[in-house]
Amino acid sequence: MGIRTGAQVLEGFRDGRQLYMDGTLVRDVTKDPRLAGGARTMAQLFDMQHQPELLDEMTYASPRTGERVGMSFLQARTREDLARRRKMYRRWHDHTLGMFGRAPDFVNVMLSSFAAGAEAFGPYAKNVTAYYEKARDEDRIATHSLTNPQVDRTHNVAAQAKDLAAKAVRETDAGVVVRGARMLATLAAYSDDLLVMPAPSYPLPNTEEAKAFALGFAIPMATKGVKLINRPGVIQPGVGSSHDFPLSSRFDESDCMVIFDDVLVPWENILMYRDIDIFNNIYRRVHAMGAMGHQFSVKDLCKAEFMMGLAFTLVRTTRVDEFLHVQGMLAELINSVQVLRSCVLTSEQEAEMTSVGVMAPAMGPLGAVRYLFPEMFRRSCEIIQIIGAGGLAMVPSCAEIDGPLADDVRTYYQAAAADSSTRIRLFRLAVDASMSTFSSRQQLYERYFAGDPVRGAGNLYHGFDKEPHVARVNALLERFQREDGPAR
Ligand SMILES: Cc1cc2nc3c(=O)[nH]c(=O)nc-3n(C[C@H](O)[C@H](O)[C@H](O)COP(=O)(O)OP(=O)(O)OC[C@H]3O[C@@H](n4cnc5c(N)ncnc54)[C@H](O)[C@@H]3O)c2cc1C
Repeated sequence: MGIRTGAQVLEGFRDGRQLYMDGTLVRDVTKDPRLAGGARTMAQLFDMQHQPELLDEMTYASPRTGERVGMSFLQARTREDLARRRKMYRRWHDHTLGMFGRAPDFVNVMLSSFAAGAEAFGPYAKNVTAYYEKARDEDRIATHSLTNPQVDRTHNVAAQAKDLAAKAVRETDAGVVVRGARMLATLAAYSDDLLVMPAPSYPLPNTEEAKAFALGFAIPMATKGVKLINRPGVIQPGVGSSHDFPLSSRFDESDCMVIFDDVLVPWENILMYRDIDIFNNIYRRVHAMGAMGHQFSVKDLCKAEFMMGLAFTLVRTTRVDEFLHVQGMLAELINSVQVLRSCVLTSEQEAEMTSVGVMAPAMGPLGAVRYLFPEMFRRSCEIIQIIGAGGLAMVPSCAEIDGPLADDVRTYYQAAAADSSTRIRLFRLAVDASMSTFSSRQQLYERYFAGDPVRGAGNLYHGFDKEPHVARVNALLERFQREDGPAR
């Protein structure tokens, strides 16, 4: 099959999945006004793969079928391969301004790492390879659910007062029966498959009870017994139009709780089962973190560039860029972009060949992006608010441009360097990017999408090789003492 068109992707979403939103079953995510915008965006991403001038940048020949498949499935063997993947990520995330972070490349690159290191999955290695090849050669979209529901975070998932998290409840000849819930599957409304895997920094204890939770599998979204509960959309029904919410109406990715109502997962779909060692260590063993970090850092770069460009455009309208402190804030945005760009490129330059034969981008600079970007993004929203100021609060709906007060609007919404229509549309974009429900969700996403940053920071500190730095300071003290003699 190879790469799919947008139309084929949309057809795939009409699979009878059980997706609930605002208390009712959504019959067709491509037609539902709350979800159709995101579906359209997904279709655009897939259509880009077919543009003749982008074909070589966005696709490569499947080693199995020879057909064109998505570049994010490529198993990188060289630094040049990493650069090829980067260029492809950029195409998608420039198109979505970095606001559709869970575009399929995120999971695709994860799957390519899993398959490259398939042996680490032990008895299920064959299934991992088969699912990767199917996803690649059929251009499937997967969401991933790694975390357990928030019930009581003081106890591990196997020792909670209320036993709600998804786990294996029995085995049959056909497969494993799974019952319970998983959070949180972004993109579930727009995915073909659901991938359940461990969360990298939430290990399970090595106990008999925990084994039932040590699950990894990939199943079609419409599998019997899978229920998805989507949060409400980011635009209040009946408020404004896509002109007023240009980002919200296009790039809301959907976030779902997944409920497994005695779902039979066939044995051939199982990727890991009851092995705590594999469950706790798989990402490290297959070197998936660097590959995923490379993808999301490119996404972050695209997002930072958009926010910077938005700020540049905004300040020109009312000429506040004449003021030094405003220039200082714009410089902050420029510096953020430079830092992100440098981290992406350094991760490629310092990439290393791994034990499983793939070129892994250096994790250090990508970990830094993971740690720094949430604050960079929040700050960019704040800067847009500071420079847009009251203009962000008084900007009317785009409907006023042609409404009964059109003449007044044309006169009084002008700015020094923009006519009223341009100014209103620009300020509405700025509102959507920096202070809407959509923007808050983006800020939350950046904080948490890759796990808990607090524990991530702790892991970084523990894992970092501190000894040479401590030794250097100790040597310095000795040198100074030698040079200065004993302290009085
Ligand atoms: C918008 C969005 C999209 C997401 N998309 C996905 C997705 O597609 N797939 C997916 O699998 N996950 C997704 N996630 C979930 C994400 O993995 C989790 O939010 C993240 O791992 C943090 O876990 P939590 O939300 O359960 O927070 P909790 O673990 O409940 O943490 C809440 C607070 O308590 C603190 N805390 C909790 N436990 C501890 C502890 N043991 N030690 C110290 N502090 C602790 C945390 O630091 C935090 O401040 C998404 C999250 C968001 C917000």
